[in-house]
Formats: sequence, structure tokens, C-alpha cells
Amino acid sequence: MPESLFADAMTRLDKALQYVSISDDAIERLKYPKASLTVSIPVRLDRGDLKVFQGYRVRYDDTRGPTKGGVRYHPNVNLDEVQSLAFWMTFKCAALKLPFGGAKGGISVNPKALSRMELERLSRAYIDAIADFIGPDIDIPAPDMYTNPTVMGWMMDQYSIIQRKLCPAVVTGKPTAIGGSLGRETATATGAFFVTNAILSKFDRPPQQTTVAIQGFGNAGSVLAELLHHAGYKVVAVSDSKGAIYCREGLDIPSIRHYREAHKGITAVYCEGTICNIAEHEILTNAELLTLDVDVLIPAALENQITLDNANDIRAKYIFEVANGPIDSSADGVLERRGIYVVPDILVNAGGVTVSYFEWLQNRSGLYWSLEDVQQRLQAKMEAETECIWQQSRDLSVSLRTAAYVHALQRLGEALEAKGTRNYFVKG
Ligand code: GLU
Repeated sequence: MPESLFADAMTRLDKALQYVSISDDAIERLKYPKASLTVSIPVRLDRGDLKVFQGYRVRYDDTRGPTKGGVRYHPNVNLDEVQSLAFWMTFKCAALKLPFGGAKGGISVNPKALSRMELERLSRAYIDAIADFIGPDIDIPAPDMYTNPTVMGWMMDQYSIIQRKLCPAVVTGKPTAIGGSLGRETATATGAFFVTNAILSKFDRPPQQTTVAIQGFGNAGSVLAELLHHAGYKVVAVSDSKGAIYCREGLDIPSIRHYREAHKGITAVYCEGTICNIAEHEILTNAELLTLDVDVLIPAALENQITLDNANDIRAKYIFEVANGPIDSSADGVLERRGIYVVPDILVNAGGVTVSYFEWLQNRSGLYWSLEDVQQRLQAKMEAETECIWQQSRDLSVSLRTAAYVHALQRLGEALEAKGTRNYFVKG
């Protein structure tokens, strides 16, 4: 097991490099983040004292366009994690052919412990600290774990105050009233739904005969659960950070989502209850959910959930990575040998950044699209790139993960070489 998340992320790059011919220059460039910023964020708490939080923003590579990626609020955020997430964003944007490089940001904080006003002060102070590092043509933040449209609205407003002009295109995932795109909030789940249908239809697996377990009931996991439920899939288990609920006959997902909404705190923007409080279901741990005997497993929470320790216990036939990095590289080989299809994060969860791209386009053109337009374009993009990656994996006889990296690397390599100066030094 590599010593850091970033080192682990690199092993996927090394593997894919065996199948692509790109220059040594390009390979060397892709091994290092372009720039990493660590900031201290002072925030006045409601009770009067000052607390300093650690924040990060990493711009990994901008060869294909301004860098793009979310901002995460979580106690475990650290530079290693943010660099890895920025690396994945680089490959995600290339895999989806979006004209962006990759970035990521985060603050090491338990957002549930802050009041709404403290959260606003933290978000605005973060933008104060990174304002010189971002911009509509430089680096464009977006939502990620525990950040949402409200937080994005504060961030866009703060950046606009600093610039003394309105800059809607500096942040995506904003409320629609101030330039957000229709369909952005549900985009990660909707994109994942299109990929799931596209891949499972290759195996002639009808929804009605497919059981699903989903780890994580946040923005991505809960919306995807509902989309799958309405499409006829049998979602038998879902979980949040406190635990999982299981029902062999299938869960009533709309009523579970309703419960979550109803238990959102009044002062905070996060749910304060847990789905485990819904009494009539069997309660499991998050670890038990992962090893359930289901057809499809969807990790939609944190990194490193499936490792060498539990890869042999996984009983699902297909895993769709809605979270970023839920499977570490040491588990890849085990799952592959056991014939489990893993559909990788840089494809499955790319719907979010795809609609972020649409939002950025709308902000820059001033022309706003209907929800139908957004959904149609999202579906076309997700299905087209899924098909390319599927074909690549057949042609090279490699996993879908390696195929997705190869697919992205071809685009990244071409762009890096188009900018390179190597040829001046090569004789003949
Ligand atoms: N945080 C999301 C991701 O990991 C979305 C990023 C974006 O929209 O820029 O893909």
C-alpha cells in the first residue's frame, strides 16, 4: 500500500502509461501538481473568539484549460487528499473532453459544528485567502463534500466584492437565482445514472432484476438512489456517516429522502438526524453494507472504503464509483481477478463537473438553458464518453479504470505535446 493517497493515485497513472505512447516530457509534467496553496483562515466564532482553520487549493494541470474542481469541508481534509482530488479532476475533465484542467480545494473543518453565520464567514474568508489563485479564466471552484449552492453563492459574491464587479463565472454550482445552472445540483447523480444504465445494458441486465446498495446518502448518493428506484432498480441498502439501513425487499427511497429533508437543522445547512432512526429497517454498519450480496455496489461517500482488507469480501458484481477514490489501488487487482466490474470515478461521477462546464458557458454567454437542454447535453456527453471508454477497454483488454485513464491520457498527452518545446532539442 503506497504511503499516501497521492502516491496511490499515481499508481493508476503508471499503469495506464503502459498503453499510451506520449512523450516523456508529458509524463514528467503529469506527475506533479502545478501549484499548491495552503492558507490559514481566521474566523470570528459566534461566541466571540477567533479560530484559525487550515485551507487548501491545488491547481494540478491547466494545459487543457482553466483548472476546475470542488471545495470540500471535512475534518480530514489535508494537502495530500486535495492534491489527489485535483489529480483526479485533471483526468476527469480530459476523459469527458471538457476544456478544463483539474483543481481541488478544501478546508479542514467539521461544518456541522458551525452555525450558518460561522459557515458564511468561513466561506468568505476562504475566498479572501485564495482570491489571487482563482478566476473565471484561471481556476473555478465548485461544490464537493459538505458544500452546496448556498456556500457557492457566498463564494461568488465574495470574489465579486474583491474584484468590484460581478463575476458569476468564477464559481459553479451557485443558486439558480444568481447564475447557477438548472440541473447542476442533481448532475453528479444524473450523470452516474446514465453511466450505470449504459454499462448494465451491455450485460443485458434489466433494472427490475438488479439489486443495489449505496454507501453515502449525500447529494450524489441520495439523488442517485431515487433515480434508480424510479427506474425500477431494487435499492436494498443505503447509508449515511452514522450507519446503514437494509431491507431485502427494497427500500422506499422517496420516503427516506423526505425524512432527511425534514430533519435538516434550522440553523445549519446539514441534516442533523440519521436515516438509521427510521425504525422499521435492519441496521448495518457502513462496512457491512459494502459486503452485502447485491448486484451493484455504489460507494458514494469517502476515499479508501474498499482496500486489500475487504476486497475479498465484496459480493457485488458491479461497482460504480460515485465517490472520488473509494477503492485503493491495492484492491484493484483483487476485484479484477474476482471478475468484479469496477466503473471508475473519473467517468461515473463526471456529471457534476460536466454541468459545471455548462454553467460556466451560460455565465459567460449570458444565455441560460432550459433543464431539458442541460439534461440532453449531459446524457449525450456521458453516453458518448462511456462508449469510448468501454471500447478502449475491449480493444486493449484492460479494466474500465485503465481504459478511462488511457482515454484521458491521450487527450492530455496531445495537449502537453502541442505546447511543448521538446522538438527543438531533438536532432533530425
Ligand atoms: N466536486 C465535483 C467533482 O469531484 C464537481 C467539480 C466541479 O463541478 O467543478 O467532480
